[in-house]
Amino acid sequence: MSEFDLIRRHLTGVGTARDDVLVDVGDDCALLRVPAGRELAVGIDTLVAGVHFLPDCDPEALGWKALAVNLSDLAAVGAEPAWATLALTMPEPDEAWLAAFVRGFGALAAAEDVRLVGGDLTRGPLTVTVQAHGFVPADHVLRRAGARPGDLICVSGALGDAGLALRHLTQGEPLDEYLRGRLDRPSPRVALGEVLRGLATSAIDLSDGLISDLGHVLAASGCGARVELERLPLADQVAAAVAVDEDWSLPLASGDDYELCFTLPPAALGQLPVLAAAAGCPLTTIGEIVAGQGLRLVRADGSGWNATGGGYDHFVAS
Ligand SMILES: [Mg+2]
Repeated sequence: MSEFDLIRRHLTGVGTARDDVLVDVGDDCALLRVPAGRELAVGIDTLVAGVHFLPDCDPEALGWKALAVNLSDLAAVGAEPAWATLALTMPEPDEAWLAAFVRGFGALAAAEDVRLVGGDLTRGPLTVTVQAHGFVPADHVLRRAGARPGDLICVSGALGDAGLALRHLTQGEPLDEYLRGRLDRPSPRVALGEVLRGLATSAIDLSDGLISDLGHVLAASGCGARVELERLPLADQVAAAVAVDEDWSLPLASGDDYELCFTLPPAALGQLPVLAAAAGCPLTTIGEIVAGQGLRLVRADGSGWNATGGGYDHFVAS
């Protein structure tokens, strides 16, 4: 079966049909219409077998995740997802694998009203590149710059689940359903990004871990932060793993969480429960933006925790 047959059979009609798609998969280019008064937000991510995912991972889960990580970037700027393109490199033209991959991709696309508008298939080492496109009102884009001293630092969901899941997998240990789902099928916080428009002073999605990603916000905003470790939202399994030797690397540095980290003016604290209800996920205040620079991590008793100790170096090195 040729590349064109595979594209026609598997990559057409994926996701939700949309009025703003004038020409879909199957011509030389898609033709798309951005609504008046909206900016086009575009993000792209590549996942490489053996680097970003285990080579034998379930193709359906990989399809979901390849789109999810891109929708997470759209959520971080407050954009409403609309379209995606997909470039897939496979060692062999494996139709069953491709069908499963598209099933996972298509399930999330349909759930988030996204249309796959372009696809490309190539032979080579297994690599998935997805580009996602969304709309955001011009004057309500969420940016990394904009956090100010006194702002509250908040995160959605829970931190460290995917890192713990990966740790179990690489150690050959069984995974419970919760951790498996958090690693394989992250829920991009699209609804949260939309409700934070015009309210959050900065936002980023947590793809590389809180230390790294909050660090980008601090660098872009020209300020520092104080984060209280005991406030970090942790699932029971992660809390238990952290408690073993006070190794906070799972929630701070293991990545793959795809939660949002954002800052709010202190006056907005009372709105947090309303925002959480509107976004459909827990929201937790974990610290505050301070003048100066750098990220200070403190325990409940006020003592500092050194991020370069414990297992953290290992994560940085890997
Ligand atoms: Mg991002």
